[in-house]
Amino acid sequence: MKKCKGFLSGLLVALLVLALTACGEDAGSQNTSKDKKVDGHKKIKIGLSVSDLTLERWQHDRDIFVKQANELGADVLVQSANGDEAKQLSQIQNMLSQGIDALVVIAINSDSLTPVVDQAKSEGIPVLAYDRLINNSDIAAYVSFDNVRVGEMQAEYIVKQVPKGNYFMLGGSPTDNNAKMFREGQMNIIKPLVDKGDIKIIGDQWAKNWDANDAMQIMENALTANKNKIDAVVASNDNTAGGAIQALAGQNLDGKVAISGQDADLAGVQRIVEGKQSMTVYKPIKTIATKSAEVAVQLAKGEKVKASDTVNNGKMDVPFIKLDPIMVGKDEVINTVIKDGFHTYDEVYKNVPENERPARP
Ligand code: BGC
Repeated sequence: MKKCKGFLSGLLVALLVLALTACGEDAGSQNTSKDKKVDGHKKIKIGLSVSDLTLERWQHDRDIFVKQANELGADVLVQSANGDEAKQLSQIQNMLSQGIDALVVIAINSDSLTPVVDQAKSEGIPVLAYDRLINNSDIAAYVSFDNVRVGEMQAEYIVKQVPKGNYFMLGGSPTDNNAKMFREGQMNIIKPLVDKGDIKIIGDQWAKNWDANDAMQIMENALTANKNKIDAVVASNDNTAGGAIQALAGQNLDGKVAISGQDADLAGVQRIVEGKQSMTVYKPIKTIATKSAEVAVQLAKGEKVKASDTVNNGKMDVPFIKLDPIMVGKDEVINTVIKDGFHTYDEVYKNVPENERPARP
């Protein structure tokens, strides 16, 4: 009997050990397949180099891009250079050494990335220029909005409000290729009116790194130099418009001087419904971020990318996936940014008394 008990408990222990070992192996093999393989392939790794995550716009881009790439089975390594060109170069070099399959870049300086893009090319890593073109380099694709059209929309809106008068041109970052395209579009509309003598451009300056403080200082100086005689400001995005509006407010001119913007930043849209900013250009971030994630995964897999247009970057005709921007004034806020869920009704109208708000959609 004793012998039999001993044999039984020995058998039990052996079975237990066997069962535990089997469980351990199972868990181990699941981990390996989860970490390294998707559908029998190595898991795709994408490097996303962001110009500046301190600006609201790029936080939306990052979030949607990463979510979409993850859904497509890719991992994303994100780094933000926070406006520092040298940092962006070293972050990209670092990403290239981490075994990425595709590199996506939101360039700080459209002209200074050739060395790292060439390095990526020589290592067989395709590069996607996200929203900002990279000049004089061999890049695989460019996904952006029609940036000349963005500039035209800004100027068209302001010119309608102020057909004649003194205009101040507030450009974006001088190193951003987009800033130049916005200006091209703005001048398509404004130049004929300058030639006709209706509009006088009394100043033209560009805000370093799209910085709001820089924009505020530029505007303060322009107001002083022109004894506050400024009728309209063509600002290239909401962040710089915000700085300029602070300077206008210092002279009690906010809401009296027409001013454009871009990005449909929450602060920008709030200023529009409060009557302090005339318009913004809404570029559905969901569209560009989702599309770019799809293209990045295709490139990483070595697939061909379909593009509607091409754009020359000084070295080659780059396949350009061109998206449409949307003009937003006070009357369009509900049917665009709120309808899309980009911002909620409550956050947009937060500072507007309830009885002055339009009907909730
Ligand atoms: C983008 C704008 C943005 C700006 C500042 C530009 O390249 O096109 O949407 O406001 O950068 O980040």
